[in-house]
Amino acid sequence: MPSNPIRVNNNVEWVNHHFNIKVPIAKRLRVHNENPTRATMSGMRATAARLQGIIADALAAGVQIRACGSRWSFSDIPVVKNGWVIETANLDWTFKVGVNDVDLASGTSADDLYLAQCGTNISKINERLETKTRRRALRTSGASNGQTIAGAIGTGVHGSAIDVGAMESQVAGIQILTATQNLWIEPARAPVMTANFAAKLGATLVRDDAKFDAAIVSLGALGIVHAVMLRSTGRYLLNSSLLHIPYGQLQTALNTLDFRGSGLPDQTRRPYFFQVILDPAKMDIGYTTVRYKELCPPGYKPDYDLKSEAEPGTDLPRLIASAIKMFPDLRNTATSLLIQAELKVRSDRPHEWRLPGETYSFTSAREGIASSGFAVPVAQVTNAIDIMRGAFQVHKNAPVVFTCRYAQKSPGILSFNRYDPSCVIDIDGIDTPATRKLITLAGQRLEAAGMPFTQHWGKMHDLTKARVRRGFGGSVDRWNQVRKLLLPDAAERDAFSSPFLDNVGLNA
Ligand SMILES: Cc1cc2nc3c(=O)[nH]c(=O)nc-3n(C[C@H](O)[C@H](O)[C@H](O)COP(=O)(O)OP(=O)(O)OC[C@H]3O[C@@H](n4cnc5c(N)ncnc54)[C@H](O)[C@@H]3O)c2cc1C
Repeated sequence: MPSNPIRVNNNVEWVNHHFNIKVPIAKRLRVHNENPTRATMSGMRATAARLQGIIADALAAGVQIRACGSRWSFSDIPVVKNGWVIETANLDWTFKVGVNDVDLASGTSADDLYLAQCGTNISKINERLETKTRRRALRTSGASNGQTIAGAIGTGVHGSAIDVGAMESQVAGIQILTATQNLWIEPARAPVMTANFAAKLGATLVRDDAKFDAAIVSLGALGIVHAVMLRSTGRYLLNSSLLHIPYGQLQTALNTLDFRGSGLPDQTRRPYFFQVILDPAKMDIGYTTVRYKELCPPGYKPDYDLKSEAEPGTDLPRLIASAIKMFPDLRNTATSLLIQAELKVRSDRPHEWRLPGETYSFTSAREGIASSGFAVPVAQVTNAIDIMRGAFQVHKNAPVVFTCRYAQKSPGILSFNRYDPSCVIDIDGIDTPATRKLITLAGQRLEAAGMPFTQHWGKMHDLTKARVRRGFGGSVDRWNQVRKLLLPDAAERDAFSSPFLDNVGLNA
């Protein structure tokens, strides 16, 4: 048992996982469960009460307050200058669901459901779901699995499971805490848990489509997310290949997700996962990762070998970043070096099928990395790439690649994967002034060309009120209206906001 379940540091600098956001804050509060090794519902109630106490204290002190998870966002979305930041990453209890806690009328099996406390990271959820006895899995996740569940849905994290939405699409219910309310929110269109279950969490059951759709991608602005009910699926195995395919041959697949003639290894099956990386300086090859899915034999025993800080190559981008800052003309050599190191042609052998939790690993921090994500409608992918490539011609020294990944339209009012389906084109690479300028110019050029697009809330962006309105339209007003219902007190709405949220019109 920790001596004090809330560890406080006053007047410290808050730093994110990639060290690109550094913000002075008045209080850093690291919250633990009272008895971390023993997950209980009474412990959940005690932690919820403690979190509500912190919110009440912040309101009394007149400071802004944000919850954060693994601090994996590249943007400043989890933090507020001079405010209080509650770190929830140590709140990592998970619970299987009792049959009597599921609403009979929902037709949902208790085995499908899994309750995760906010700070449980995705790799832990995988490991706990994918056991030989439980034999369940997540339908999708991000490319790496160090995000917490609340943080991942907080910005609408997506992977590249082409027929699945972003992570919020597998949420069945969510617990939100404010200073005075402890709510268990489910959509009225798909109720799942009983009022008695909500009461075990100390929460009141709310069945409301709009509140649920607002809460599943909340940007930390609706209170503290304390627990999330996930809908799991049966275990499955993935087989991955990385191929170098001519860009011209990939264009139909990129714009339609129809893979006929695309050069993928198995034309008879729809892939589970499809990702194409392009070097904007040399668009001849699409570095294509494809994953096919198979049922998992019941006896399969996972063997997790997730990457660690000691992984070779971890420091490569940082070293290259330093070199490029000194010699900007090194861009092409550096990018090609990185591509050679990271994107070699490879293919899993038949016995190398793996569970999602074995496939998506835990990535260690890489200082000096930049990442941004632009979501566009699938039919617009190569048009958007052309526009972004035009921006690259202006900033040819930017050591970046473009990465195309797909997700189905996702249910949150503020889900940035809002197209049916969406392709998220990331500009990822080494963080240099040219990279930052390219990300900015790409957004401006997409806007000028009238391209529909949104941006990843948790990556580098230049979001303004006009751009958020342009991307989300009336959803901005809908979300603000629901926010007023969930947080009726204006002072509490201000407390859970930030200059960024104010500026983009999400505290109206
Ligand atoms: C190596 C790496 C790989 C990545 N891969 C992907 C990817 O494949 N796909 C993708 O979409 N993104 C990806 N990202 C971006 C990242 O996953 C997202 O920004 C994600 O939101 C971070 O989750 P987190 O737990 O670190 O939350 P944080 O970054 O700490 O917070 C994110 C948001 O969630 C809110 N939040 C966190 N916890 C709570 C809580 N308990 N209650 C209320 N609000 C809360 C915060 O206020 C904030 O608004 C990647 C980032 C890194 C560093």
